[in-house]
Amino acid sequence: MTLYPLPLEYILLSPLRGSGRGSSFIMIKLENIKKVFRTDVVETTALGGISLEVKDGEFVAIMGPSGCGKSTLLNILGLLDNPTEGHYWLDGVEVGGLRERQRTLTRRGQIGFVFQSFNLIDELTVEQNIELPLKYLGVPAAERKERVTEIMRRMAISHRANHYPQQLSGGQQQRVAIARAVVVKPKLVLADEPTGNLDTKNGKEVMDLLTQLNAEGTTVVMVTHSQRDAAYATRIINLLDGMVVEKTLL
Ligand code: ADP
Ligand code: MG
Repeated sequence: MTLYPLPLEYILLSPLRGSGRGSSFIMIKLENIKKVFRTDVVETTALGGISLEVKDGEFVAIMGPSGCGKSTLLNILGLLDNPTEGHYWLDGVEVGGLRERQRTLTRRGQIGFVFQSFNLIDELTVEQNIELPLKYLGVPAAERKERVTEIMRRMAISHRANHYPQQLSGGQQQRVAIARAVVVKPKLVLADEPTGNLDTKNGKEVMDLLTQLNAEGTTVVMVTHSQRDAAYATRIINLLDGMVVEKTLL
């Protein structure tokens, strides 16, 4: 099929998936990534030339002041957006130039997102929200039910299965969002200020969940403003004005 060139199949079938912490396999490699947003009147350089690597099994925190390009970088890592310039290799395959449909197919089942504002679908119940990515993947109904039940149990949200997002606390909504992100067993979880709308206790719960997923082999890249949250990571990358200014191994 012309729509899916070989590299994509390589990604989907990669035997190196989830090889876990301690592996030195490079999952993400960025080389001189630039992102420029253009409107009729202004041109904003959100990323000015980012080069970095993330190894399989790492837990990386991206920090930096508001507007420095953290979300833009995360969106490019997550194949939600394309860079204007530069190269992005995911599992050794260049993905920076993929078209939207290929990005969607590559993302599906491989990359899970967690956002500050939860981004759940209000019209769907907790259970239906979590089930949705499995439906997109074409997982049969019986297996969907099994996996959703299991992940709800792990996220301590089973008692709210038939509730709607608006009936939940912020902490519960974020646990549902994490469940939805990881129910497909992605190799990479991207989190954009996942504790930004939570109190300390619920924030800690979310960080503990991300830490646990990482310990099981999932690579995590998280944007955060919080030094406390960043301390859960194994490495911190500091951005300033769209550039990497510092990389710290914790
Ligand atoms: P951060 O997440 O670090 O706060 P962002 O990545 O959201 O920063 O934004 C970086 C810069 O790019 C900012 O100047 C922002 O205004 C700009 N920007 C982000 N997204 C867009 C967009 N879709 N259109 C135009 N400018 C954007
Ligand atoms: Mg942001």
